[in-house]
Amino acid sequence: MKIKHIQVFVCCPGRNFVTVKITTDSGVSGLGDATLNGREMAVVAYLEEHVAPCLVGRDPQSIEDIWQYLYKGAYWRRGPVTMAAIAAIDMALWDIKGKIAGLPVYQLLGGKSRKGVNLYAHANGESIEDTLDKAAELKDQGFKAIRLQSAIPGLPVTYGVLGDKKDYFELQGNRPLPPEEVWSTQKYFALIADLFAQARDKLGTDVHLLHDVHNRLTPIEAAKLGKILEPFDLLFLEDPCMAENQDSLSVVRTHATTPLAIGESYNTIHDCREMIQNRWIDYIRTAATHAGGITAMRRIADFASLFDVKTAPHGAPDLSPVCFAAHMHLDIWAPNFGIQEYVGEGNAESLQIFKHDIKVKDGMAFVGDAPGLGIEFDEKAAAKYPYNRSYLPVSRLEDGTVWHW
Ligand SMILES: [Mg+2]
Repeated sequence: MKIKHIQVFVCCPGRNFVTVKITTDSGVSGLGDATLNGREMAVVAYLEEHVAPCLVGRDPQSIEDIWQYLYKGAYWRRGPVTMAAIAAIDMALWDIKGKIAGLPVYQLLGGKSRKGVNLYAHANGESIEDTLDKAAELKDQGFKAIRLQSAIPGLPVTYGVLGDKKDYFELQGNRPLPPEEVWSTQKYFALIADLFAQARDKLGTDVHLLHDVHNRLTPIEAAKLGKILEPFDLLFLEDPCMAENQDSLSVVRTHATTPLAIGESYNTIHDCREMIQNRWIDYIRTAATHAGGITAMRRIADFASLFDVKTAPHGAPDLSPVCFAAHMHLDIWAPNFGIQEYVGEGNAESLQIFKHDIKVKDGMAFVGDAPGLGIEFDEKAAAKYPYNRSYLPVSRLEDGTVWHW
């Protein structure tokens, strides 16, 4: 069996998604997600010009060899563009291998370690009351873990809160240039303890609570936050600070027992290594699309398991349903799986394009038994929603200094 051709599709059913389809000479095909929010077309060019020509004619079953060929063989390693391209090829090859074997991908990884995949949902609100009303609704729907984000009084928009958007699946406000947002650490600290104190009063103790800081704090500020949130018993605090210096997390660790999670923007196991082996984190949040696919995620999960670190894959709306399907197979298999981020199954336009057999009930996802990844891509439906350039926002402090978004 040989790879016959590789196609790259970009569609925008509210969000831009880059989808790779590998077709073999026997007619079997596989799908991968190569979406890199705000930099989509860079990955398309990398795939079409630099990856696809090297793979035509190769054996699609040699997943590991192709991964190493694209990673080590290119000399230029790592980085989000490279790794998203490798990830999409890797997912598509696992999809093909499953279809050839007549087995879902999780069976090829080693089978199920649990009956379903625990999810955490998002409650975002314009005020603490609004956030907690939404959290109560999610709890009623059966979710047992909920991330809380509330608009910060005095700031026009806040990360994680929809603001002027009607839902998560709306393109970033249809923005041909990056919008700019304002951040104030002082105003954030004035809100955060109240949010979680009121959450425990209203929601009780039989629900897991989570929170995402989105890298806005310095290490010592993050340590202060971890300490403030200790009484409210979070499942984890996500991205408390940037970690280009990986030992930043050790500062937080020294001062607080609030569990820590990081890694959604990391591209390789090397980006995670020090934090895992030093036990500076409790959850590693790499995503299949941005950290090199199923092959690389399996390696990260196994490495993390040696140090009692659990997996909690990123699940933002800018990852396509193909990535979500890949996560389902990894999550149901990984012995050290922790929890999966979940923002809903997408809008009506997206559901016309991506069809899958994942079922969500009582805060848990159940993976189907279709061979491969269990997801289909409708090219004709995708063509109705062409690429639309859009950016993530850029963050500035109140004095105008560029800050972490
Ligand atoms: Mg996040």
